[in-house]
Amino acid sequence: MTPEFSQHLAQTLSEIDAAGLMKRERPIASPQGGHIEVAGREVLNLCANNYLGLADHPALVAAAQAALQEHGYGMASVRFICGTNTVHRALEERLAAFLEKDDAILFAACFDANGGLFEPLLGPEDAVISDALNHASIIDGIRLCKAKRYRYANSDMGQLEDQLKAARADKARHVMIATDGVFSMDGFLAKLPEITALAERYGALVMVDDCHATGFMGPQGRGMPHHFGVADKVDILTGTLGKALGGAIGGYIAGPQAVIDLLRQRARPYLFSNALPPAVCAASITAIDLVERGDDLRERLFNNTAYWRAGLARLGFDLLPGEHPIVPVMLGDARLSQDMAARLFELGVYVAGFFFPVVPQGTARIRTQMNAALSREDLDQALEAFGQAGQDVGVVA
Ligand SMILES: *Cc1c(COP(=O)(O)O)cnc(C)c1O
Repeated sequence: MTPEFSQHLAQTLSEIDAAGLMKRERPIASPQGGHIEVAGREVLNLCANNYLGLADHPALVAAAQAALQEHGYGMASVRFICGTNTVHRALEERLAAFLEKDDAILFAACFDANGGLFEPLLGPEDAVISDALNHASIIDGIRLCKAKRYRYANSDMGQLEDQLKAARADKARHVMIATDGVFSMDGFLAKLPEITALAERYGALVMVDDCHATGFMGPQGRGMPHHFGVADKVDILTGTLGKALGGAIGGYIAGPQAVIDLLRQRARPYLFSNALPPAVCAASITAIDLVERGDDLRERLFNNTAYWRAGLARLGFDLLPGEHPIVPVMLGDARLSQDMAARLFELGVYVAGFFFPVVPQGTARIRTQMNAALSREDLDQALEAFGQAGQDVGVVA
């Protein structure tokens, strides 16, 4: 490195640190779950996307082990050269059936699915209209395509309609609305009934990223389009294998056959990146089986969510409203969120402060997430810790 570049990096890092924005990772020594081992201690985990508690489920571990024996460890190829294993197609077909779409295509992550989705489907004659709070991967995917870009404030249906009119006035050939199904920093649900109705009125396509919904929102965990009864009006779904569906790695796009066929020919993260390990795919199929008949898990998840939300409110914390297992405790200041998370860790509860650039400046928070692996006793213990930590950092009386 040149000394100038080295100095530039050191300065940027010290600015991040001075602003209280440095993220520090804590290695977990146990499997992911409700109780985890960190720094030699057992703590409660309230910040995983492990909504149904499947990350250490014995059936997933067994399915992965069996697939390791049968198919080996890696594919050492992209899909179209020699990287397509029978289990890849089995998972794509299972996902498509589960989501009630024609077909599905796998990616190394949903970040790649969103990164590769827009560019092959939309050209400079087209328009894409995006919610301002969409996930970073949607924003990046839209940047990579040549369509004209329009934006609306989070869930502002008046602004969405204005942008649909603007796209039509600009003579867009095809118009696509892109939205998260659930906005991950707030736990707010996208207004899919209104969005799909507007899409119909203006002849637009609808793309939904359902990462924080698939597996536990809607009947059988089929996600937000089913939750709102508008599944037939959502054209394209993206999602992850890295959250409720076992939590390993991988993403997908599900939709009409021609969309999936074209993406298989043109989506760059699909063409130029390695195929998923067969063991992950096999365990993901088992995860979908468990999810489909997982009403008991979903019941525990939503009972936990209601109990947790009520307990935090009783303690006097400032919460964002909602019904989703994401329950953000609003603190405002980045350093305060770090101090509160550090104090909670001392008290045996693992949570993470979220602050700029992950959320807007001045809206730092601790994003708690419920899951089905936590017991009532765990939640009582966590509430006690929150009450204590909140007093210690001075946010509740
Ligand atoms: C987590 C998440 C992603 C990224 O998924 P990965 O599979 O981890 O890459 C994309 N979009 C949304 C809305 C997410 O919450």
